[in-house]
Amino acid sequence: MRYISTRGGIAPLRFQDAVMMGLARDGGLLLPETLPTVAADMLDRWQHLPYQYLAREILSLFIDDIPDNDLEDLIERAYASFTHPQVTPMTKQGEVYILELFHGPTLAFKDVALQLLGNLFEYVLARTGGFMNILGATSGDTGSAAIAGVRGKNNIDIFILHPHGRTSPIQALQMTTVLDPNVFNIAVRGTFDDAQAIVKAIFNDLDFRDRYRLGAVNSINWARVLAQVVYYVYAYLKLRKLGHDSVDFSVPTGNFGDIFAGYVARTLLPRGCIHSLILATNANDILTRFVARGDYSRGQVQATSSPSMDIQIASNFERYLYYLRGEDGGAVKRDMDGFAATGRLDLAACRQRVAEDFRSRSVSEVETLATIGDFHRQYGYLLDPHTAVGVKAALELRDPARPVVCLATAHPAKFGAAVSRAIGSQPPLPPALADLENRDSRCTVLDADLGAIRDFVAANALQ
Ligand SMILES: *Cc1c(COP(=O)(O)O)cnc(C)c1O
Repeated sequence: MRYISTRGGIAPLRFQDAVMMGLARDGGLLLPETLPTVAADMLDRWQHLPYQYLAREILSLFIDDIPDNDLEDLIERAYASFTHPQVTPMTKQGEVYILELFHGPTLAFKDVALQLLGNLFEYVLARTGGFMNILGATSGDTGSAAIAGVRGKNNIDIFILHPHGRTSPIQALQMTTVLDPNVFNIAVRGTFDDAQAIVKAIFNDLDFRDRYRLGAVNSINWARVLAQVVYYVYAYLKLRKLGHDSVDFSVPTGNFGDIFAGYVARTLLPRGCIHSLILATNANDILTRFVARGDYSRGQVQATSSPSMDIQIASNFERYLYYLRGEDGGAVKRDMDGFAATGRLDLAACRQRVAEDFRSRSVSEVETLATIGDFHRQYGYLLDPHTAVGVKAALELRDPARPVVCLATAHPAKFGAAVSRAIGSQPPLPPALADLENRDSRCTVLDADLGAIRDFVAANALQ
């Protein structure tokens, strides 16, 4: 399998090179040259497999430059850190199935991808004799999952900027209590946007980027999307065993990464297995407007109780756009250049095709908290605010003819303040994190100043 850019401007790459490149050199995103498909008889075999074995089967359709035994080992080690034997278990609560993706080390679904990505980076670097310095900004979840994915790994340093005092206390502690010498937490005196702007400026300094071999871990990395395809298929197969041939998924979405993995899974499986994907947004509804009217236009970011979805520009949207534009990289490039210039993309002409793939609903703050409260009262089950957005959209848009699987993207304790507003008390942290506040922590506080942060990275980076 070779990888190409959504903007058509690079020579095809092998998987390992695609993982190391992250963002394509022409500014586009990497995708497989063709999306693989599997036949129904394969599903008879797959439906008995444990998560890790299913992951190996699926990943090997997309990866042909890592020997089977090595891939098996990378997957095995990635999911050994999960506290549930099924990795992503599923439960039924009332009308919906809940696919719990939060049993990894940082309690959010990003662990599913980042535990694997850390191993992949280390594997490739060991073979090429290289090193890398990962640099990123986080508003909370991505940073802790990325740190957990690469802590203690050889030939990798990681520098994560977070806005000082503006993440939840738990999110900050999940990052700063990791004391491995290859982990550098920088608390920036400023907002997330300040931190993000500094990271972008450092990446745009091409000399610096090349000298320190800067790498990114945000959801534009193809390996992250790929790792997430697995749990859609895993959940589908569980329902298939119960006699359901066709299911829907509801996905709380910010950067379009998780739901794009659903799109790949839907293409992979025989037609109709995944009937539709419900794209759930919070008050930041650019993607809901896109599905409803073909209007993809940037708005103001609004702060909500599901902060990991407080996003206006969905960094993975371009991958779907590539298929919407009939795999025409030139058309995607024109669209994205136009969007960069005007903040707006008119896709009304594609509405019919989009409606075949997605249904969408934006969920308000009041609805989100009410859904958490209802589920707690009716079923004694606690939803985190992101998951609640997806559950509410599923309850509104589901088709009673088919089961709907709601992706549970974070453990409720991770967003205790919002949950407490909904039910009147804080959910307890799981045992592995219960003593977080008593652990030693390490973090450097710096001004939101490009020079100061670049100097800090240069002084500490591998080279
Ligand atoms: C990152 C995140 C999301 C959004 O995922 P995308 O891939 O950006 O759509 C949803 N919920 C939680 C808890 C997250 O951390």
